[in-house]
Amino acid sequence: MTRVSVDPDRCTGHGRCYTLAPGVFDADEVGHSIVRVAEVSGELERQAVTGAENCPEWAITLSR
Ligand code: SF4
Repeated sequence: MTRVSVDPDRCTGHGRCYTLAPGVFDADEVGHSIVRVAEVSGELERQAVTGAENCPEWAITLSR
């Protein structure tokens, strides 16, 4: 399993993560990212990696 977290101090709300990985990330009321599923594997893990790789603020941490 891989743990997913978003640093709220880094996230500026571009929305790439929840657009590319809607199974893992969602938007709060102002468009910042929130984690829907904190521990992922399989397809959700692949989504989480895609989201992290496409975050321009390096706000997403994946830990195995
Ligand atoms: S892509 Fe990064 S900066 Fe943009 S909403 Fe997601 S975590 Fe926040």
